[in-house]
Amino acid sequence: MARIPRPKGPGAGVRPTLIVNGHTDVVPAVAERWSRDPFHPALVDGRLYGRGSADMKGGLAAAICALATLESAGYEPACDLVFQFVADEERGGALGTRALSESGLIQGDACLVPEPTSLAVCVAERGLLQGEILIKGRPAHGSRPREGVSAVELGAQIALALHAADFGGPEHSLLGKPTANVGTFHGGSALNVVAEQARVGFDRRLLPGMGLREAIDGLRRQVESAGLGTVDYEIDVQDFGEGSEMSAEHPFAELVRRCISAVTGTATPTIGMTFTTDARFVRNQGGIPAVVCGPGDIAQAHGIDEWVAVSQLVAATAAYAGLYRSFGTGSP
Ligand SMILES: [Zn+2]
Repeated sequence: MARIPRPKGPGAGVRPTLIVNGHTDVVPAVAERWSRDPFHPALVDGRLYGRGSADMKGGLAAAICALATLESAGYEPACDLVFQFVADEERGGALGTRALSESGLIQGDACLVPEPTSLAVCVAERGLLQGEILIKGRPAHGSRPREGVSAVELGAQIALALHAADFGGPEHSLLGKPTANVGTFHGGSALNVVAEQARVGFDRRLLPGMGLREAIDGLRRQVESAGLGTVDYEIDVQDFGEGSEMSAEHPFAELVRRCISAVTGTATPTIGMTFTTDARFVRNQGGIPAVVCGPGDIAQAHGIDEWVAVSQLVAATAAYAGLYRSFGTGSP
């Protein structure tokens, strides 16, 4: 194999730099619920099964194999390539891409994140605010509920208000409207006691541009507009990740679409994602255009019997080879 020249350090190269950023961590798999060993990959009927096959070791493998594909065809990349294969994406990225960003190590002209999008080009993703609303009531005998203040009753009203919430603002063309889901609910101490406390676990999804303070304020406004402004509660924030986006018309998004279409023979859709990826650190903190585009269906990610279609892996590999060959030359 021909040797690929080493970059001479940030800013020293004459070629543009393309970052390929992806995560190597996976979510846990409960082996008893799988029909095969999640950590022993199996090829069956054109599918590669295993934990992480779609999210996102398949994408990482395609990104690596694309280099070998280029070389076997007698070409070199037109750009410098920086592979950033990180940990901790599934837990929020603090020990992975965020750490790289804070160390000033995300430097380049564009970034490809080969997360599973079924090879669609994703240019925007929603952010999140997750945590618990801690509600305080006043205990009383369970036979006289109106003599106390039930934290469970108030918590139930807050849960209903959040599910029905319209957070306002215009609808995003790719991301729709912000949402809230109550995923957990705990409260009370005994059947015959008016509940003194309740915890409503919420998951608020945000549009790009919304910061932490604004996201919390929006949550408080929903509680107040449901007539619950006098309720004694606190918000315990457990996770926050801002949304991010780049222009769908950006030349890099256009280039990735052309490279994918050159392989699939069909128009490449442009999409938004309802959840966050590490692309947000590259876009928001790094100021670098980042396209999320990879093999596999997000419906498979985190699921039982996760798989990726081999045909998608092959198509992604060929498309990435075209991208490496054309990035920085002005034409694919
Ligand atoms: Zn992923």
